[in-house]
Amino acid sequence: MKKKQFTRKQHYISQGLLKLFSDDGNHIYECLVSSKKVYQTDVADAMEENCTYEHPLLEENTLEDAFATIEGSFIPQVVAIANEVVSSEKFTTDTYAKICQLLEIFLLFYYRSGAVLSEFCYGVDDPAAKKRLRVRRLLEIITTRSYLKQLANSIRNGYECSLLHAGTSHFIISDQYLSTVALSFKNQFVNTSNRAIGMKDTMVLIPLSDKLYIAFFNGRIPDYIKHNQISHLNESQVFQINKIIFHNAFKKCAGPNSTLLNLLKEEKYFSHEATQVFFGNDDGCTGGYTNKKEVFFYPEDEEICTFHIQYALKYRDLKKQYGKAHMRNIKCPCGSGKKFKICCLAKYERAQQAVEETQNPKLQNYRISDCIAEMPIYEFWNND
Ligand SMILES: [Zn+2]
Repeated sequence: MKKKQFTRKQHYISQGLLKLFSDDGNHIYECLVSSKKVYQTDVADAMEENCTYEHPLLEENTLEDAFATIEGSFIPQVVAIANEVVSSEKFTTDTYAKICQLLEIFLLFYYRSGAVLSEFCYGVDDPAAKKRLRVRRLLEIITTRSYLKQLANSIRNGYECSLLHAGTSHFIISDQYLSTVALSFKNQFVNTSNRAIGMKDTMVLIPLSDKLYIAFFNGRIPDYIKHNQISHLNESQVFQINKIIFHNAFKKCAGPNSTLLNLLKEEKYFSHEATQVFFGNDDGCTGGYTNKKEVFFYPEDEEICTFHIQYALKYRDLKKQYGKAHMRNIKCPCGSGKKFKICCLAKYERAQQAVEETQNPKLQNYRISDCIAEMPIYEFWNND
């Protein structure tokens, strides 16, 4: 039997998809997020690493071949949906059904993406160990079919949907493939982030092309995103969405022109990076998780996330000092000179509520009911 050719360059974002973010099908611009370097490259050399999906216990090229087979039918379906929407300018129930049918594959592409692979081995130093660990975690997830299926159901049943059209501007793509963003500050969690799929007040952005993204959302969205419709975005709205996509990247973003990436890299981004959490329960059980970095749509939620402990403590102090009713009319502690109730009170209350919820599990209500949320796979097995 003829030995199959070994693919050294293994793309963690499929080339078929990258072509849809290139202006000529061949060239694409990449931005290295940490060094802020923007350069032109070929689609064949973008978003790839040597032997990304190899593992000592797997036969060579096993995963790479499997992904190539899936891409063979997946990419034409993505192209067909995008073409249909752009030419008809309609978001029909038929298009929605086609999108829903692809949800498990969208999630599969998310879990095989560079950003998620990096998260799987976050904090591990030895390069070989890092690689083995991330392929093992990937395999655990994609072979637990009920997990992907239930997560796809969470999106289908818990979220509304809109198609975002970039007009004359362009969307970019991150090395995380799809992007997620929190639409409110919920809490600081030990095992997940505010933007996990399946949680309330979250938006999931799925790329179709540099002109079209699918947005699945639950909660407070900006008014330019319209449920069940094509939302035509102006340049600054596209920039707002691109900022989220850029911030979702672990190492790289890519797009059809350099101007856009050069503007995006200069934006200020919230600095909460991925974190490792270790905990010990009263019963002696211990655990550890890697949480995604937090990404918020609204700047005020970023602020609450950063300062919620300080805000909650201050709220308690002021309440003690002035009483709940009188406290509303004092001068705001931020120094603006305005009354507390028309300035920062709402965010102090939210912070106080989050701290209270942390101390009382009965108050916690972050997941969309009857839906699962993204979680470490071993936790899913334990709850299943
Ligand atoms: Zn204030």
